[in-house]
Amino acid sequence: MGGKTFEIKSEKVKKVETPFRRIVTDIPAPESLPILEKLRKYEPISMSGQPPIVWDHAENFQVYDKYGNKWLDWSSGVLVANAGHGRKEIREAIIRTAEKSLLHTYLFPNESRAMLVEKLVEIAPKGVDRVFLLTTGSEAVENTIKVSRQYGQKIGGKKKIGIVSFTGAFHGRTMGAQMIGGIPALKEWIGYQDPGMYVLPFPNCFRCPLGRLHYEGCEGECFSLIDKGLEERNTRADEIAAVITESYQGGEALFAPKGYIRLLSEWCRKHEILLVFDEVQAGFGRTGKWFAFEHYDVVPNLIACGKGITSSLPLSCVIGESKVMDVFGAGEMTSTHAANPVCVAAALANIDALRKDNLVKNAYEMGLVMCRELNKIWKSFSDHIGYAQGKGLVWAIHMVKNGTRESDPDRAFDVGRRAIQKGLMITSPLGPGYGSIKVMPPLTITEEAILDGASALREAIEESL
Ligand code: PMP
Repeated sequence: MGGKTFEIKSEKVKKVETPFRRIVTDIPAPESLPILEKLRKYEPISMSGQPPIVWDHAENFQVYDKYGNKWLDWSSGVLVANAGHGRKEIREAIIRTAEKSLLHTYLFPNESRAMLVEKLVEIAPKGVDRVFLLTTGSEAVENTIKVSRQYGQKIGGKKKIGIVSFTGAFHGRTMGAQMIGGIPALKEWIGYQDPGMYVLPFPNCFRCPLGRLHYEGCEGECFSLIDKGLEERNTRADEIAAVITESYQGGEALFAPKGYIRLLSEWCRKHEILLVFDEVQAGFGRTGKWFAFEHYDVVPNLIACGKGITSSLPLSCVIGESKVMDVFGAGEMTSTHAANPVCVAAALANIDALRKDNLVKNAYEMGLVMCRELNKIWKSFSDHIGYAQGKGLVWAIHMVKNGTRESDPDRAFDVGRRAIQKGLMITSPLGPGYGSIKVMPPLTITEEAILDGASALREAIEESL
């Protein structure tokens, strides 16, 4: 089970020099091996899933090691550095807060926390007007489950605690988040399934739950699998407290058909079920809109956010309607590090930076360039790439075994390794069968840098065949 681990061994590679990439040593750089070996010795193997490049500093969409190499970053860490790495205004806000010696306040009020929650409500849809600040994306998801079940019981009695989620979904690695997750291998460790959690088929048109080969306006039929799935588990819709879905499924940048989400939203309204979007990776401009659910023209009751909310330090939140968010009394839903003032300062500066430089619009516009370039690559290698899909600046190209729809994790891994050797920073393959190469640069990326990265990716695929 799990992804592949990189060997800690330097390989001779070709020198690279473009305006955005520079590779001048063997990769990984021989001098970095002792650091990598130390990490391997003292950390669990689970921490060794990413390419063995020791990051020294990062600026905008470039990542540097100490040994003269420079990467064009198509990872944003992992969809965190939306406003670019090391953004000056964010660094300065962090330093200002630290220098006035305010490193922690617990839940005692501080001014910047008040500013941030106000700003987040401004960005959220009308009526979604309470913000609970936390630290990680998984924590935010856990809390959407918590408030949903409490609210469900309040309006519908003891039985209204069901949570519907989707096959293929990833919501984090803590217990509740994994229980609602839709990748069975990730939750084998739990040993049982909460009987009130229902993982039902996601409208995945590449691996259609109805066995079709393409989308054919079939969202109604696909949506009927929800009622059918509940019936098979002897449950009724009025026993469901919430439906939670990623706005797009992160593993493969997979959006649901718009009509499907519209049906879902209507169904939720009819049965007084909360609609929860996990925007942990999708939010803060990633898809060319502030929130990715805006692509579906629906309004959720609860939104889980994280990652790009600061472009840097750990902060997450749940934004939700007050009728739901106020179901717990004072002190009943808190966390020690909620709203850490340094992280809050980073979030405020980040939101200002995203606005000042119109980065949400840039994500949309550069997304069109990315779409064009990745589709060209798909067409060139259509026997080995099942699809290139995404929106804005999150994309996946899915490697498949020759002419089939079966994931090809070995080739995906090899392409990733070669891309790193060429100065293109991408994360290890993700998604079903670890076949997806994810493309997710900072939202500051330029057309020239996209073209440069696309040529490196093309070469990496060509050499892997
Ligand atoms: N939800 C989604 C959609 C995610 O992509 C992630 C992280 N990859 C999480 C939740 C969990 O966030 P964290 O790792 O900050 O706990």
